[in-house]
Amino acid sequence: MKGSFFIHFYKISPIFYLNMFCYSYFCAMSRKKKIRKVFEDLTVTDAGAKGKAIAKAPDGRIVFVKNAVPGDIVTVQTTKQRKAYYEGTAISFSKYSKKRTEPRCEHFGTCGGCKWQHMGYEHQLYFKQKEVENNLIRLGKVEIPPVLPILGSAEHYFYRNKMEFSFSDSKWLTLEQIQSEEVIENRNALGFHIPGMWDKILDLNKCHLQRDPSNAIRNFVKAKAEELELSFFNSRKQEGFLRTLMIRTSSTGDVMVLLQFFHEDATNRKLLLDAITAQFPEITSLLYVVNTKGNDTIYDQEVICHAGKDHIFEEMEGLRFKINAKSFYQTNSEQAYELYKITREFAGLTGNELVYDLYTGTGTIAQFVAKKARKVIGVEAIPEAIEAAKENAQLNNITNVEFYVGDMKKVFNEDFIQQHGIPDIVITDPPRDGMHAAVVQQLVAISAQKIVYVSCNSATQARDLALLDSHYKVTKVQPVDMFPQTHHVENVVLLEKR
Ligand code: SAH
Repeated sequence: MKGSFFIHFYKISPIFYLNMFCYSYFCAMSRKKKIRKVFEDLTVTDAGAKGKAIAKAPDGRIVFVKNAVPGDIVTVQTTKQRKAYYEGTAISFSKYSKKRTEPRCEHFGTCGGCKWQHMGYEHQLYFKQKEVENNLIRLGKVEIPPVLPILGSAEHYFYRNKMEFSFSDSKWLTLEQIQSEEVIENRNALGFHIPGMWDKILDLNKCHLQRDPSNAIRNFVKAKAEELELSFFNSRKQEGFLRTLMIRTSSTGDVMVLLQFFHEDATNRKLLLDAITAQFPEITSLLYVVNTKGNDTIYDQEVICHAGKDHIFEEMEGLRFKINAKSFYQTNSEQAYELYKITREFAGLTGNELVYDLYTGTGTIAQFVAKKARKVIGVEAIPEAIEAAKENAQLNNITNVEFYVGDMKKVFNEDFIQQHGIPDIVITDPPRDGMHAAVVQQLVAISAQKIVYVSCNSATQARDLALLDSHYKVTKVQPVDMFPQTHHVENVVLLEKR
């Protein structure tokens, strides 16, 4: 129904279709009495933080526009008003930007996953590069060399190796579905949370983020579950049998599937899992969890192996990484390889160096640089990750790495340095929040020759670079795109002692 509606109108004119959609949205918003202000014919000039397009209101305030692309001329209805800015949605378009491209995915606009699908890839890269430059210069206020051109991803779609889908008996209905005469009796869904709606799930048909057999497995599991009349989860009432589905694909061809149930029902669990095994012989690891908790996280749950092995393998430059259901591994394997090569090159190893790899996760960077270093020491907060790091190092016959577990600001102290030696090079790859001030202070105190700072958030990286600025000069900056179709950007910075 939705598909035919879309195609029918799209053939007439994309502008007509989009304006129709925007008008319906406007009417719906009016009914909800949420109207604030309407600004006509604003030119969208930029794409900023969190991927929102930016225009300027007549009163000089910035307007963050949800569904626009730089170059569009739009009428915006505001949804939020603050001292310095508005937030809003484009309710009609008088001109489309040349930077636009056709979104590939039928779920674009409803799904929160790939917000930049309507912008050409070269323009996505341009705005990511600009975001990194702006953050380092404006937030960090540090002197930087010219930023190297961002390294784009070879794959623009189907680049993720891990996806997690949720079951729900409260499918998200599109505006067209609500306004149509159609009676939708089956409200089962298997897909993603609608942004900002914790209890509503978008039912996916085809997701463009993970390669086959991901879509085939998800659609089969949904159809089979319905055939067996199994109940889909209701997060408000906290009832239902099926909770989540995780699929991991890998560079070695291994495929992991994990089903999460809310309670045990051995007969139906077995029926569903056996059907999956029979349909997809390529699944090398079929796992399940019975999680009776209020939330979906499996980190404190027992993972049970139904068929195959309890792990899969990833491979990079001859190194093999054993990954279980709870292990972290970079989600874009091909670009992770590029990111690690840049990191190793920035470190400029000769074979004699003592290297610290802070926030090492499962020790992938540590193992990746080990053959070019004298010794590598990895530090990480999660004990299971460190166990996996040790196991992987052993599997890969790497003997010059050591791993230690603990909260960085506590572990990475004077005693630790005394025990393990002053590093020649520090590689640091913290989470989105960046490094704790105490960790930055410690870096200044130990004064390694070089620091390679890998970051998934250039705003917090900029803050940390400012704290290091009195002792370290930024000599190289290389953004890397790990997540096409989103605004996220990874950035590698080389710091050398002043
Ligand atoms: N370098 C790794 C993982 C980077 S993700 C890789 O490329 O695969 C960041 C890591 O920092 C995660 O593994 C997370 O568990 C860890 N971490 C987050 N906060 C931490 C803290 N306070 N102390 C130590 N490690 C932490």
